[in-house]
Amino acid sequence: MAEPIRAVKGMNDILPPDSGRWEWFEDKVRALMRRYGYQNVRVPIVEPTPLFVRGLGEVTDIVEKEMYSFVDSMNGDPLTLRPEGTAGVVRAAIEHSMLYEGGKRLYYIGPMFRHEKPQRGRYRQFHQVGVEALGHGGPDVDAEVILMARALWRDLGLADVQLELNSLGQSHERQAHRQALIAYLQAHEGELDADSRRRLHSNPLRILDTKNPALQALVEAAPRLMDFLGEASLAHFDAVRAALDAVGQPYRINPRLVRGMDYYNLTVFEWTTTQLGAQGTICGGGRYDGLFELLGGKPAPAVGWGMGIERVLDLVQQQGLVPPPVPPSVYAVIPDAAALPRAVACVEALRAAGVDVLMHAGGKEGPGSMKAQFKRADASGARYALVFGADELAVGEVAVKPLRDAAAAQVRRPLGAEASWAAELQHP
Ligand code: ATP
Ligand code: MG
Repeated sequence: MAEPIRAVKGMNDILPPDSGRWEWFEDKVRALMRRYGYQNVRVPIVEPTPLFVRGLGEVTDIVEKEMYSFVDSMNGDPLTLRPEGTAGVVRAAIEHSMLYEGGKRLYYIGPMFRHEKPQRGRYRQFHQVGVEALGHGGPDVDAEVILMARALWRDLGLADVQLELNSLGQSHERQAHRQALIAYLQAHEGELDADSRRRLHSNPLRILDTKNPALQALVEAAPRLMDFLGEASLAHFDAVRAALDAVGQPYRINPRLVRGMDYYNLTVFEWTTTQLGAQGTICGGGRYDGLFELLGGKPAPAVGWGMGIERVLDLVQQQGLVPPPVPPSVYAVIPDAAALPRAVACVEALRAAGVDVLMHAGGKEGPGSMKAQFKRADASGARYALVFGADELAVGEVAVKPLRDAAAAQVRRPLGAEASWAAELQHP
């Protein structure tokens, strides 16, 4: 036998029954988006590489070492599997003049690709839900997107999720802070690691985001961006905080929260949990008023977040919130191959009337023994078996046998009039 081919490392198959949990989650997400007035966008998974190099910044983890980039062998175009969703959505908004008539509130669900070291909560193909509120500059919308995530935690039943908040101010404020930060870091250059030394002049703010434990004390004592914010930035931040306070949502101001991407300004936030080990951030986002211009569009303010679905579902499972499987209502038992045409007609009519019917699937030799079929009917979790026996068929009927309720009696129902009795079989 040939050697079986395996999936790419860090890229997972999502199989039943797990996939049921994903659908449950996605249903909750879609209901949430409807309630907040966010519309779905579906942009390509492959984009021109310069979109991310320009959009995320060259000195980011993603662009430096995490992108799946390749050359289109047909025409030589540099392409990249999207590592995140925002750049593509903004590209599409510019390309299709989506903000022509005002702001747009959008969301997406889909796979992202990053060449990272696979571990719990960190995969090479992973999935995000993201929201992008485009063309809205007010702090009310920052609060809105933050509170949408909160509403989703509630809808999922999740507990122990904390909000961290910071403001990155505007670029002139970051410039002033940057000068002070470089001066401080230069004074401590000997203590920096190689990564940080390299970033000292290209992107010193990112040094604050370092995961190196040896640098934590140094970073803790560094000049704080918050102290360089002007009146307008502080007012924006205060308005976001006031909205969170108004709904009683606690948060921790984390001055070291700078996010992985360079395009953020003003509000940045993360939703974190202590229950997932090292990969505790389940949702991160913020305002990115500069990105439209950076990507060649008319300037437009924007705010959004990205949520790691694998991490959220890990937490869902951790907290025992796994939704029960949804069994079919009915399992169709076929005593004899001759009954098949009328059985097919019946179950199709029931399905058209909205009933979940699992039809017994036979093999080349026919449907198999009744005993084996009832065993499968039982295992399926169905509440009824439909039995297409010769006696019933002879008088134009089918037997409906309750499988879960020993006290309930078997009845017969007329073929060809399924709509009149389909409701009896529905899920309670
Ligand atoms: P981290 O610091 O964990 O690497 P990040 O800042 O790179 O996160 P974002 O780019 O903000 O993450 O992506 C938003 C969310 O997507 C994260 O909060 C996380 O939940 C999820 N995420 C990011 N990278 C991965 C990955 N490789 N595998 C699974 N989920 C991920
Ligand atoms: Mg990362």
